[in-house]
Amino acid sequence: MVERLTAEGNDEHLVKAGQNTTGWVEVIAGSMFSGKSEELIRRLRRAKIARLKVQVFKPEIDVRFSRDHIVSHSEMRHESSAVRNAREILELLDPSTEVVGIDEAQFFDNDLVDVVNELAGRGVRVIVAGLDQDYTGRPFEPMPQLLAVAEYITKTHAICVRCGQPANYSQRIVEVEGQVVVGAGDAYEARCRRCFVPHADAPTRHED
Ligand code: ADP
Ligand code: ZN
Repeated sequence: MVERLTAEGNDEHLVKAGQNTTGWVEVIAGSMFSGKSEELIRRLRRAKIARLKVQVFKPEIDVRFSRDHIVSHSEMRHESSAVRNAREILELLDPSTEVVGIDEAQFFDNDLVDVVNELAGRGVRVIVAGLDQDYTGRPFEPMPQLLAVAEYITKTHAICVRCGQPANYSQRIVEVEGQVVVGAGDAYEARCRRCFVPHADAPTRHED
């Protein structure tokens, strides 16, 4: 029951995390524009309504919209700390924190897996959001490992901008090499399996 509710994004039953209970890891995974940040922010806001102590982290590489907030494409925002690496999360952690949110997990090093396990082991509810595939459709580390260790997984979908079907891929629409090109509306668009073109040099901006 708990698993089913969590998979559907209902977290009412999860408010009791804390020092005297066991922690756990929730992963929110999907393509760009699929609502990962919105869902993360929704859960964090609800945790705060439940008067839980919340801390939020994002990688320093991603300070495009704000340095001290996570910001969704729909302009929802929540304050956060930018960290250089996963270990810094442990350094900045307040001992009284009960819920830790982490956005853009795909930009962290693989230490993030140990860090979330360490936090959950201390009794913290850890909510991690990230891109599960890169622009070529390959699994984006460390997300596959986070998905493996998570107690609860939510897969979010965007809307394919070509055909309106649920979108599972982030299509890069500019010609640049490299797995990490931090960008949003101008560099990527959401595509379904049929409309996705899985290679770097597939600019589509001027098609149609
Ligand atoms: P993510 O963190 O997965 O990139 P966000 O939570 O930042 O997603 O943004 C989700 C919001 O993006 C949606 O609520 C909607 O307002 C907007 N959006 C823009 N393009 C799309 C699209 N193709 N499909 C779905 N939502 C989109
Ligand atoms: Zn499509």
